[in-house]
Amino acid sequence: MKIKLIKIGKTPVDFEVKRDEITFKGYLEYDSGKLILLKANLSGFTLCECSRCADEFKLKIDEEVKFFICDGVFDSDSSMDLDVVESFDSTADLDELLSSEIELIKSDYNSCDNCKTQ
Ligand SMILES: [Zn+2]
Repeated sequence: MKIKLIKIGKTPVDFEVKRDEITFKGYLEYDSGKLILLKANLSGFTLCECSRCADEFKLKIDEEVKFFICDGVFDSDSSMDLDVVESFDSTADLDELLSSEIELIKSDYNSCDNCKTQ
């Protein structure tokens, strides 16, 4: 699912993307300058490798996600400390954003139920 950034204004644009057992649901809203705010909830399950025993297990995900999408290069000389993803085709590629969020979660320290109870 791709949304053209130019179509996003002050009225939030809802979206919902599903992959396997994960739902990425939220909205996009114009912020300021070249920035579009993305606020969403990521929920469901993903297969993940346990950081302790390396077993695969189902990780439950329930996370609030919030960052900005910049239409083009983000001017990092501003002192604002923002989470910004740059888009070079003037669209918000929600499938790609979902993939990177999942990768981010998987790269965190995650332990399976067995290891948690030890
Ligand atoms: Zn484990």
